Amino acid sequence: MNIQDKTQIDLLKTKIDNSRKVIIVPHNNPDGDALGAALGLYNTLRNMDKEVTVISPNEFPDFLNWMHGVNEVLIYDKSIKKSTKLIKESELVIFVDFNSLTRIKLMGELFEQDDTPRIMIDHHPFPDANVAQLQISVPEASSTCELLFHVLNEAGLKDAVTKEAAECIYAGIMTDTGSLNYNSNRPETYLIVAELLRMGIDKEHIHHMIFHNNSFDRMRLLGHALGEKMERLPELKTAYISLSQDELKRFSFKPGDTEGFVNQALWIEGVNLSALFTEKKDLIKISFRSRGGFPANKFSETYFNGGGHFNAAGGESKLKLDETVERFKKVLKEFCDANGFN
Ligand code: 5GP
Ligand code: MN
Repeated sequence: MNIQDKTQIDLLKTKIDNSRKVIIVPHNNPDGDALGAALGLYNTLRNMDKEVTVISPNEFPDFLNWMHGVNEVLIYDKSIKKSTKLIKESELVIFVDFNSLTRIKLMGELFEQDDTPRIMIDHHPFPDANVAQLQISVPEASSTCELLFHVLNEAGLKDAVTKEAAECIYAGIMTDTGSLNYNSNRPETYLIVAELLRMGIDKEHIHHMIFHNNSFDRMRLLGHALGEKMERLPELKTAYISLSQDELKRFSFKPGDTEGFVNQALWIEGVNLSALFTEKKDLIKISFRSRGGFPANKFSETYFNGGGHFNAAGGESKLKLDETVERFKKVLKEFCDANGFN
């Protein structure tokens, strides 16, 4: 990976060396890469005798609860006071897998006034300025976990990476690439995977815990989503799924249960864009996936206050679920016409 600026690595090393109390923050609704990077770094820094706390903006999905250190993760929206105190007392804050304070929701406000030194390690394009004093931003990386391992290695800290940390890091690489399917054409990714295997990780076990350990209800929700709720817009080469709160309740929804649904809608022949609309308490969460030249991040940013990667992005809407879907159809047509897609 091309981190041109060796001074960034030196600065990271110095900041870590000079700090004892470290806070690590993944993005809201943490996925495998965000929590994997947070706990990969947590386990590594703990091994270096640092006092480390991972603070997640909100709850993480059950399919990640095998990760080492997961029981020590503080959930900000459940322990605001304790989290705020720990952040105030910390000497270094490290953000992983996001590049805008809006991605940590309410927690973002806390850092607007905070002057604790901050480092950002992330692989999303278009980082905001001033997220951190040191911003290690490498969009070519398959995942923040791959970038994290690369950075630790470059900083001479590879020996501190424990097997447990390696498991978390591997989980992030695997979830962000669809098990080394997309975003993973660079040979360097495999060299890092090889290193992690050498550290003794059990790849099959990790795969099992993440992908093959579903609740019965989650599998039934998937059946409902694909069987009853998937729609197609053939002229726009698009498929989408929408799920209401009532439907989610019917299948005892838990965080993470809809992870991957949006990818499956993209598996249809002739479909270049898929979307998943999920009704949350106060907004509609939207996921986009695209194939080829459709810029999912630009589309999401333009119409749904979101962003992300070129082929995998997310956003939100304050309209009702059906209104959001109607608006999606309308603006998608506009966007395709204006940009010459389809
Ligand atoms: P997912 O659909 O899995 O939630 O997210 C796909 C990608 O888009 C991830 O890289 C994620 O970080 C990004 N993303 C998801 N939701 C949002 C959002 O609301 N705003 C921005 N800027 N990025 C998002
Ligand atoms: Mn990621």
